[in-house]
Amino acid sequence: MLGAIEAGGTKFVCAVGDETGNIVEQTQFPTTVPNETIPQVMEFFKKYQLDAIGIGSFGPIDVNRDSLTYGYITSTPKTAWKNYPFVQALKEAFDVPVGFNTDVNAAALGEAALGAAKGLDSCLYITVGTGIGAGAVVQGKLLQGLSHPEMGHILVRRHPDDQYQGKCPYHHDCLEGLAAGPAIEERWGEKGVNLAERAEVWDLEGYYLAQALMQYMLILSPKKIILGGGVMHQEQVFTAIRKYLPELVNDYIALPELSDYIVSPGLGDKAGITGSLLLAHQARQEEIR
Ligand code: ADP
Ligand code: ZN
Repeated sequence: MLGAIEAGGTKFVCAVGDETGNIVEQTQFPTTVPNETIPQVMEFFKKYQLDAIGIGSFGPIDVNRDSLTYGYITSTPKTAWKNYPFVQALKEAFDVPVGFNTDVNAAALGEAALGAAKGLDSCLYITVGTGIGAGAVVQGKLLQGLSHPEMGHILVRRHPDDQYQGKCPYHHDCLEGLAAGPAIEERWGEKGVNLAERAEVWDLEGYYLAQALMQYMLILSPKKIILGGGVMHQEQVFTAIRKYLPELVNDYIALPELSDYIVSPGLGDKAGITGSLLLAHQARQEEIR
């Protein structure tokens, strides 16, 4: 039996299941402070005899196994979680292998194994929600270097008519600063869900996301691009991306059929938790080897 945690900025989803994505029980708690949230996680897992646990976490996190702070949440703006030794806390409580990666890397893994990119050895998973982040599977493995990628904070060209200053506390008008849910809300003065009828909102959103996708394509050449997160519930954004991307690329590279290439998660809102089960599975396999 495998345990999975999808640790998000607003909620923790916990599940028990197996590496085929089969989920036996699932629950969720609000993300408050570690002393409150983690005991709830432990209480939930206690009923089961777990072989391993996988965590897909909000970040930035330390995924470098040679680092002294491996397994920690690092420089998050959520101060109570800053420098929290996430992996260590679970290892101490359950004494099982613990897999640890970003929430979007977990989702990319889930989608590559069991979702929209099933059968492919490469995909990109992007979430457009409270923040923007992406995870990549490249040649069958999660892409990792010095640390995990942070693809939400790339720079994009500003739309000539867009006066909004941007919401990223680090870079102001990076992609996340211009196009994540809170930026949409602040620019237009209304929650995204209430802006459905305002075509210009979603056209601008697609304008920025298409630029990002072009850069991801040029650098990683993923075989499938999967877009999830609250903002992508606006189907119009897909339409705008599929309009702007070919204009930007301008036939420099051949684009696949976009309706099949740029898609919603095949696992729906279960991509992250399913990927976290796979992280648990990987951690268990590594232990055996
Ligand atoms: P999180 O990123 O916190 O895990 P979500 O992916 O649900 O959560 O993203 C939340 C963001 O998405 C909020 O900024 C919210 O306003 C926006 N959002 C949620 N649903 C919709 C929708 N149907 N249309 C447009 N924006 C939405
Ligand atoms: Zn930024």
